[in-house]
Amino acid sequence: MRYGLELLKDSIDIHLHAGPSVFPRLMDAQETAEVAKASGMRGIVIKHHHTPTVERGYFVQKAVPGLEIYGGVTLNYSSGGLNPFAVDSTLNLGGKIVWMPTVDAQNHKAHFGELGKYGSRLDYKKPNIYAKMEGITILDENGNLKPEIGEILDIVSDHEAVVATSHLDNNESKSLVEESRRRNVKTVVTHVKFITAALSLEDQKWMADKGAYLELCYSSLSPAWRSTTIDEVVEIIKEVGPEHYILASDLGQVHNPAPPEGMRIYISMLLERGIDSGEIRLMVKDNPEKILGLT
Ligand SMILES: [Zn+2]
Repeated sequence: MRYGLELLKDSIDIHLHAGPSVFPRLMDAQETAEVAKASGMRGIVIKHHHTPTVERGYFVQKAVPGLEIYGGVTLNYSSGGLNPFAVDSTLNLGGKIVWMPTVDAQNHKAHFGELGKYGSRLDYKKPNIYAKMEGITILDENGNLKPEIGEILDIVSDHEAVVATSHLDNNESKSLVEESRRRNVKTVVTHVKFITAALSLEDQKWMADKGAYLELCYSSLSPAWRSTTIDEVVEIIKEVGPEHYILASDLGQVHNPAPPEGMRIYISMLLERGIDSGEIRLMVKDNPEKILGLT
């Protein structure tokens, strides 16, 4: 058996991308589910920048029995932005994660120079209507959370679902984590070392103390998106503690390996650097199960 594959068994990848998508994707959702099942994984959560994924999850689930397939909604402009109605319908249909804005976040523009895409790395002919749009932020001009966030968090709480920070800036993420804690909402701080987040150890500890799960993604190590190193990931896990982390792939791009293979590489590199198998199982299986309410 290939090194790292054993730990992939029964794991859940809470963050991957699959077609159909306006961005180029390595595989569609059904093909992704098939390779995840062949790797012995328990489940996947399909994230999409533009459309809710509960419906595709429903049909892929029928086509690929034996793997658990979950979806959610990302609050970009195509879903109406910070739109509680999109959250309500997605969670009523069984959605698990509500992701804050990604490519349409004000903070995304601050890092990538534009809204809607990632330059030439994840490109498509975005509509001209973007020209008049400002990036989305969850804070008002006084730095307080916008009222829609409260409405959204209440719906997420009612469904015992999860809210994830996506491409918010660190200040916004902290406000969201704090308010989520107040309302008893489960929170994931998305890819903490990706370009849009780059959270310090101190900030990560602060968020872990508030009960948030912190996500470390393989994509942040990949050549096209390199924003951290495997040694830094090891240091983070050792310093803050694996009980606070979820390892996810954030893969699906055509220039990267398929999500389960990316996870296998990720797991293998961590094992080689002294993160033990119990700690890895916590981050790829137990914590994802816990946050998704599957235990
Ligand atoms: Zn992603």
